[in-house]
Amino acid sequence: MESLRAVLDRVSREKIAVAHFNVSDFLQTKAVVEAAQETSMPIVIGLSEGEREFIGVKQISALIKAYRQDVRVPIFLNADHTHSLKSAIDAVQSGFDSVVFDLSALSFEENIRQTREAVDILKAINPDLIIEGEIGDIGTGSSIRNLDTAERKPLTTPEEAKHFVEQTGVDVLAPAVGNMHGMSASMARGETKKRLNLTTIADIKAATGIFITLHGASGTDDSDLQAAIAAGINVIHINTELRVAWRQGLEQGLKALPNEVVPYKVLPYPLSTIKEVAASRISLFSAAH
Ligand SMILES: [Zn+2]
Repeated sequence: MESLRAVLDRVSREKIAVAHFNVSDFLQTKAVVEAAQETSMPIVIGLSEGEREFIGVKQISALIKAYRQDVRVPIFLNADHTHSLKSAIDAVQSGFDSVVFDLSALSFEENIRQTREAVDILKAINPDLIIEGEIGDIGTGSSIRNLDTAERKPLTTPEEAKHFVEQTGVDVLAPAVGNMHGMSASMARGETKKRLNLTTIADIKAATGIFITLHGASGTDDSDLQAAIAAGINVIHINTELRVAWRQGLEQGLKALPNEVVPYKVLPYPLSTIKEVAASRISLFSAAH
């Protein structure tokens, strides 16, 4: 299988982006893997600490290893939003391909100090590991909640980004560029869209020259996402949209089969709604410009 670094290099040259989908169970995993197969594109499957705790670090690693034997497209495993060195080490030792080491809640200097320390320790365990650092405030929780744009924190500056990358040695940067975790109720209904600051993305790319990830991309305007890829975004995280699709599909299945108790007869409904959203995002992110 092609390495994650090789895939990132390739999408960077081709001016497309890799889709990153969060999962916490077998159904979501099956849905996004099938979407990757149908579109013939690599994907990154990410799990936050909460998602990892639910399915199990060893269990998801074994599941992905099993899928890799059957699936022709590269499937990578990412330890998303990891807040402690211990949980990062657990994931790396279980075979995760990358870690988002997220100390963005700490002061900028403390984030730099501890991220640099984590890069040294984690690369000693696996020199091929891809490590992502995060700066700025893009909210927490991929759920439906109030997203008041007026309350948004300032965007990451190119100077901060450059300093952080130089000081820490991370492979990938997650900046704040108008993105935000979660969706508002009107975004979940498709009535409003998040908008990105495309100039800031281009300036951060020029200042750092490294791979850049867009977190919290659910509910973002499609043309902004394509312009963000052209400006230098290499990986795009989608979680809330898949969670909304999971719930809608599950409700449809339970409603269509009110007396059914056989899981494999009800679960194809959410499988199909999750897969449809995932495939549409992969197609958008991999469309040539
Ligand atoms: Zn995120």
